Amino acid sequence: MSASIFDEAQKRLDKALKAYPMDAETALLLKTPKSLIEVSIPVRMDDGSLRVFQGFRCRYNDLLGPTKGGIRYHPQVSADEVKSLAFWMTFKCSVAGLPYGGGKGGIIVDPHKLSQAELERLSRGYMAAIADFVGPDLDVPAPDVYTNGTIMNWMCDEYSKIRRSYQPAVITGKPVALGGSLGRESATAQGGFYVLEALKGKLGLSGKGLKVAVQGFGNAGSIFASLAHQAGYKVVAVSDSKGGVYSEAGLDIPELVATKLKTGTLTARGAEKVSNEALLELNVEVLVPAALENQITGKNAANVKAKCLLELANGPTDSAADAIFDEKKIPVVPDILANAGGVTVSYFEWVQNRAGYYWSEEEVNQKLKVIMDRSAQQVFELKQEHNVSLRTAAYVLALKRLNEAVLAKGTQKTYQK
Ligand code: GLU
Repeated sequence: MSASIFDEAQKRLDKALKAYPMDAETALLLKTPKSLIEVSIPVRMDDGSLRVFQGFRCRYNDLLGPTKGGIRYHPQVSADEVKSLAFWMTFKCSVAGLPYGGGKGGIIVDPHKLSQAELERLSRGYMAAIADFVGPDLDVPAPDVYTNGTIMNWMCDEYSKIRRSYQPAVITGKPVALGGSLGRESATAQGGFYVLEALKGKLGLSGKGLKVAVQGFGNAGSIFASLAHQAGYKVVAVSDSKGGVYSEAGLDIPELVATKLKTGTLTARGAEKVSNEALLELNVEVLVPAALENQITGKNAANVKAKCLLELANGPTDSAADAIFDEKKIPVVPDILANAGGVTVSYFEWVQNRAGYYWSEEEVNQKLKVIMDRSAQQVFELKQEHNVSLRTAAYVLALKRLNEAVLAKGTQKTYQK
């Protein structure tokens, strides 16, 4: 694993800047985060003891609008990771053409080890600590790994108390009954699925029953597996943090989802066990990393046999792996395109909150499809035009929009006239 996720993330930007040179000021502005704060959150635990948790929030860049991005609860959260995730959000929002910059937050915690009441106190404490740095026109958080609608509601409620007024647009991914949007829960997976459908022919995949392996069975991975299964793909393997299951004949995904919900584990009749590492190397048409960063690196990329990758996770592939895939001509649909559906429906939620007018699930999905199809098409055209990977093309698309904003504000050239 690389020493710094952020240094790794920057390599993709450098590559895109080579493929499509921008105004030097755009590159300069995108090199560093606008702000990165670290907060201490004291929490009274159920046994009466006090624990202090460490949290972060990064507003990477706000050229295109208020910063936007999730909050992660994970033992491996770090300032470096949060900054990298905020960096990716900047490009993701731009790829999707959303009026947002990029942000991200996180707390170093294993939420599974806390009671619900402790989790609530931690979530409210985090929001209280960052309340001056977020807001509907400033920075709008959302769920990410191991956070959910309930947590978003606690944070929304805490912020509303601090501002002494109802502020639903401060955070997205809320429960539908509490100002959330229909379709937000499934949006990351649904968006990824639309992108796959839009690109599969162009990437040389055709026919029914294409084999899919999904690493990660959280919100994005499990819903994606269900959508793919429903659409006639053969989902042969899925895994969670504890390992996975494999069946050459295809897994019964609805049954797996139900078992996981009931027992907390991934088990299926007639299926073999497969480790997370082995899953990545299965002979499938579509490999979907939907867990954490740096799963596919220079060490294991050469063993990947998939015909294409769809990155539902953020940063699952490092730049050394990218080079191997480029050489082997294995297309990688990059995270900043493949998983942009989540933030796109977050945008819809924010719009609905501000308008006080709510859409049907059908309307949400229709609008999501328009954005995902358009973004996939634009990325593919840039790939062809510049003869670059889909990842570099996605960065170029994002950079073009960011560059336009920089030029419109005025650069050195403007002031020297
Ligand atoms: N955490 C999600 C992501 O990485 C969603 C962000 C959002 O909805 O703002 O894209």
